[in-house]
Amino acid sequence: MDRFSINNIRKEFLNFYKSKGHLTEQSFSLIPKNDKSLLLIGAGMAPMKKFFTGVETPPSKRMATCQKCVRTGDIDNVGITTRHLTFFEMLGNFSFGDYFKEEAIEWAWEFLTEVLKIEKEKLWVTVYEEDDEALKLWNEKVGLPLERIVKLGKKDNFWELEVGPSGPCSEIYYDTGDGRGCGSPDCKPGCDCSRYVEIWNLVFTQFDKDEQGNYNPLPNPNIDTGMGLERVATVLQGKESVFDVEPLISVIRKIEEISNTKYGADKRKDTAMKIICDHSRAATFMIADGVIPSNEGRGYVLRRLIRRAIRQGKFLGIQKEFLSQAVQIVINEWKEAYKELSEKESYILKVIKLEEDKFKTTIDQGLELLQKEIQKMIETNTKVLDGSIAFKLYDTYGFPSELTEEILIENNFKFDKNEFLSIMEEHRVMAREARNKTGSSGWKDEKFSVETSKTTFTGYTEASNESVIQSIIINGAEADSIKEGETGAVILDKTPFYAEGGGQIGDTGQLISDYVEIEVVNTKKYNKDTIIHEVNVIKGSVSVGDSIISQIDELRRKNIAKNHTCTHLLHRVLKDLLGEHVNQAGSFVTEERLRFDYTHFETVSQDMLKEIEKRVNEAIQADYKINYNLLSIEEARKTGATALFDEKYGDTVRVVSVGNFSKEFCGGTHIDETAKIGMFKILSEGSIASGVRRIEAVTGKAAFNYLEELNNLVEELSISMKSTKEELLSKVMNLKKESKEKDKEIQKLNNELLKKSMDTILDQCEEINGIKLFAIKLKDKDANSLREMADKIKDKNNSCIILLVSELNEKVLFVSSVTKDLIEKGIHAGNIVKEAATIAGGGGGGRPDFAQAGGKNPNKIDEAINAIKEQLKSI
Ligand code: ATP
Ligand code: MG
Repeated sequence: MDRFSINNIRKEFLNFYKSKGHLTEQSFSLIPKNDKSLLLIGAGMAPMKKFFTGVETPPSKRMATCQKCVRTGDIDNVGITTRHLTFFEMLGNFSFGDYFKEEAIEWAWEFLTEVLKIEKEKLWVTVYEEDDEALKLWNEKVGLPLERIVKLGKKDNFWELEVGPSGPCSEIYYDTGDGRGCGSPDCKPGCDCSRYVEIWNLVFTQFDKDEQGNYNPLPNPNIDTGMGLERVATVLQGKESVFDVEPLISVIRKIEEISNTKYGADKRKDTAMKIICDHSRAATFMIADGVIPSNEGRGYVLRRLIRRAIRQGKFLGIQKEFLSQAVQIVINEWKEAYKELSEKESYILKVIKLEEDKFKTTIDQGLELLQKEIQKMIETNTKVLDGSIAFKLYDTYGFPSELTEEILIENNFKFDKNEFLSIMEEHRVMAREARNKTGSSGWKDEKFSVETSKTTFTGYTEASNESVIQSIIINGAEADSIKEGETGAVILDKTPFYAEGGGQIGDTGQLISDYVEIEVVNTKKYNKDTIIHEVNVIKGSVSVGDSIISQIDELRRKNIAKNHTCTHLLHRVLKDLLGEHVNQAGSFVTEERLRFDYTHFETVSQDMLKEIEKRVNEAIQADYKINYNLLSIEEARKTGATALFDEKYGDTVRVVSVGNFSKEFCGGTHIDETAKIGMFKILSEGSIASGVRRIEAVTGKAAFNYLEELNNLVEELSISMKSTKEELLSKVMNLKKESKEKDKEIQKLNNELLKKSMDTILDQCEEINGIKLFAIKLKDKDANSLREMADKIKDKNNSCIILLVSELNEKVLFVSSVTKDLIEKGIHAGNIVKEAATIAGGGGGGRPDFAQAGGKNPNKIDEAINAIKEQLKSI
């Protein structure tokens, strides 16, 4: 069946279209580029929309791909129908204003019947009812009898997205034989039964649908075709469902093994296995393309798929973590065709493990809570789950709302999505307000409200300005003036002060005129476009309407700028060295240091950190010039500039380029050339949350100071070691060696001492009730020595009880040992130390033959020993 294997069909398809003059390309990423209308690529043509609409010129007018697709819209069908997957591969050939219907139809036929050698009699087609041209081509050019051409309406045979290219289509069906059919004499493609399976859709894109729903004819009509690879392999191999073809079945086999469940024995369990198989595959490919589980956008889709799969695992009775095992099979099976899977293998597994780990701790509790609620709903005869419970499941137990909804529907209950969303929004607002309240200003910013126009920010180019005071706020209320000794906030018409934002700290500086001196201690944004200066009036007073010189602390700003530009270098270097999945997760730059949080799932080795540091320093020395461009968001994205993942941007954005080294969306202030950063030194690196790491570093003078401190430390060390810097290391190594030798010597001497004192110790034996007891008080002996001593006593006495007590660091240590014969008589070392230690204000215990314990009270040692003796007497 090799001819019909997934790998072979993929290869033959691309080769065939190559022979027809097509440029064949690797699959595009699942993450759409410069296309906000899509979350994930769901069709072969989706990444090529720009070529269809003419926004960009394609590299060739004829192209063919095998495109990775994710269709979350089909999620509820997965495991239910035989033909739906959320992730699948779509084979497609495309013409951008080049060939049209005739070639598209003829070649599709040629590929199916001559390359794959499918029997012609098994193929049927449908055409759009108004598309006589296509009907004629199938009938006259291809020679398909009219009985096997079915006309269908717009619902079935007209292809369109919300907006963009659209047109009539023609679908090719495979007849799986009457065994699978409904048996009706009218049964043909379009029938609801599963006899005829759609394998290929040829779309004749002749329109561009606009936002108002008008179909505008395209000057040069296009061809867009899509054939589901797994689906075509299924029917050609005569298999029941897409999950039965290799290598999907290998994933199912693994799940059978993990869950100890047989595939094909129980419908509901089969569905669970199919869902796990599909979702593992989708998750693997999504992660490989850079999606990270989160609560938003693509990340949420991924999280949902992973958590849904885990829940199906629970249904199959799998208790331990398992998903990465399924994912491993996916990687093994598909990595030959998709090299990103082998390149990112350990990373993919890591993300899956982390996400499974995260959900593992809460899924059981969540399921239990939901089960209880369902029980309550049955008892009270309610149909809809309370929104606050759904929110709790989401917020506390990590249940995607769709998962809650799914479980409810399985139990014939309803889910109120709107209620859920409104509770979620309420919480969002509350969280935001709580955040605002913790603002650290000297004045109460949450209270005041002022009518003011937007402040012009001049600080990209100026360090000082002549400004006019627009508003003054004191204690949250508007004031006409502010005078010596008062603190408050001042709003100016224009200002060089940068307001805290984008991870950059606000500027400080002064507002001055002949008789006035005002200190600006911080600068913040108010209502998005207004800049607020937090001030202390040092001298004089000012009123609204006054002119004043606004002057930032330039040196401080320069240091901030150095650090800020450096985060851009660091971001680029991290992406280059660790992978494109690295994204800025947060940053904070002050005049002293920079902090950069980034997404990455593995520890970063010391060697790697050094390399990162080295590369950033090389970029500094390359002396790149910094340039700024104000662009529309579309233009900016086209330049390939890095945008922050979760950031919302306005219509125009500022793009900061550091030579040709880095390009980022950024509103911050920077230096003009990288050499001015001077030097970059990492202070620390580590994980701060799952999948998020933080680098703290210094630049310029702070880096110099840091090295200076290190240098001073080395100098002090050298002096105290009486060594030159160069010899320091070897001296320390020698010292360590010497100290080790001395330790050995001490141990040896101790042993000798012990040997000598053993004689006196062995003398301290008394007999109680015919049992030999060594109850000995010692000083400053640690547990090791006591143990050694006990062993030595035992060596010389084959029937005895030992209780050694040492006073050590104002505490008491008890060690007891009992020989075998006495254990048989019921004497227990653990009980002895326990009793003794309890008297000395402590506790402990252990085995019958050996035990140790600690007490806090050295002056109770005698009492403890006596108690043990008394006990022996009463045996
Ligand atoms: P269906 O009605 O079966 O969901 P569709 O009309 O949505 O299919 P198209 O949008 O025309 O399919 O996509 C082109 C081809 O991609 C289909 O002919 C099919 O072979 C394949 N395909 C579509 N959706 C899926 C899916 N969820 N899983 C596997 N293959 C799919
Ligand atoms: Mg569909």
